[in-house]
Amino acid sequence: MTRAILHISYIDMLIAQPIEHWIENFSVNSGSEPTEVVLPAMNHSGPIFPGIRLNMPDYVAEHPEYQLQSLIQEVRQHLPNAKIWCSINPTLALLGSLREVQVIDNHGGELERNACITNPVVHSIIDDIIGGIVAAGGDDVHGVVFQATDIYPQAASDRVTGEIQNTCFCNHCLAALKVEGYREGTAPFVKRHPERLALRIDNDGVANIVIDLHPTDGTASEWLYKNAVAQNFVSADEPLAEKLAGEYVKYLRARVEVTAKQIKRLGQKAQENGLQRAVIIGDVNLDLTTMVDLRTIDKHQAVDEVWTGSTNDVIVRDVNTPVIKFLFVRGTYIIDTFFERFYTAEHLIKRGEQADTVRGYMSRLAPKFIGANLLSGNNVMAVSYMDWLAGFIALPVFTFQDVNELIDKFLEIRGLGIGSSSTTSADGLSPEEVIKNLRDRMNRNP
Ligand SMILES: [Zn+2]
Repeated sequence: MTRAILHISYIDMLIAQPIEHWIENFSVNSGSEPTEVVLPAMNHSGPIFPGIRLNMPDYVAEHPEYQLQSLIQEVRQHLPNAKIWCSINPTLALLGSLREVQVIDNHGGELERNACITNPVVHSIIDDIIGGIVAAGGDDVHGVVFQATDIYPQAASDRVTGEIQNTCFCNHCLAALKVEGYREGTAPFVKRHPERLALRIDNDGVANIVIDLHPTDGTASEWLYKNAVAQNFVSADEPLAEKLAGEYVKYLRARVEVTAKQIKRLGQKAQENGLQRAVIIGDVNLDLTTMVDLRTIDKHQAVDEVWTGSTNDVIVRDVNTPVIKFLFVRGTYIIDTFFERFYTAEHLIKRGEQADTVRGYMSRLAPKFIGANLLSGNNVMAVSYMDWLAGFIALPVFTFQDVNELIDKFLEIRGLGIGSSSTTSADGLSPEEVIKNLRDRMNRNP
């Protein structure tokens, strides 16, 4: 039986709608009931279970029905045989802006709310989080999954004009890179910008390309150099461009080793407790915001399975680690960006912003978020033809109505509800009627 995994990444989804709603949304749109469910173990402000040193988000602390233990029981009631996973975002946004744990860019600046997975403090916190998951869920928890699609943000720097920002160069990463044979530190990443080689022009300006470190034709550095010339990021007669490509590939080869080993370290406590370990990455090749590829994860047996937005039959067939197709562009990258706005919205509300302003801010990414969702009956069927895949995973939020309901509920529990849009849908139906319609549709398409 093909695995069908329901992904509920954020507690905001369960505060807005009961789990039954998301199970039905998933079933109606995929044509199959979930065989597994991913529950959030934490959000941007804290874990959703008690018992460890970190505090729960206020609303969850006050409402035990949204705590992990209750959510697991709720899944059990609706899907007695489903395997339950708990998701962890190892960048630990809840740590705010503590320089001691943050990702450090090539200019020495730290990125707020973005801890580095190479940092031993992060390892200890993740160990505690996994311990808390085990205490809350016991034998009902099948495994933990790490959301790693944006562990190493790469961007145009907002601090240094005209510079590209590259991460991470914290002292733990520098030491780990050295162990893998890369000793140049940040030197090539200031002024010379090897990252130029991995860019492409797109609608929003520029975007990163994914890099195959083991191309079947030629070497990775030749391939990168040709890409950069074709995209006009280097000139074919720039004297050092080819050398730069060689240096960059040397760095990337060391970096993927570091990242794979660190992902393995993140799952250590899970393995000790007999839990399965999965990681969500954007692509089976090297995606620059994840800085690892499937081959290297597989080589180190860093996790038990990989869930990714983009697969490649040649590479997947070449490894032993099972691969699940995430029916969402770049896995959780856009999902995380969308929900990150919920965290920022908290601050806007505390600052006294009006409901309309907060709503406008929160819904700005909705078209991109909805547009990147690939869940459909035909796509699920297509995955079933791809015999190199072990199944699919999907997030059942794909209409503007779904998004509006999430935002309405978020505002409502913070005293900014305006009422009308949360009680009826665009076609005038109450939530109960919408769910009934979904159920009827599901019964027609079992
Ligand atoms: Zn680091």
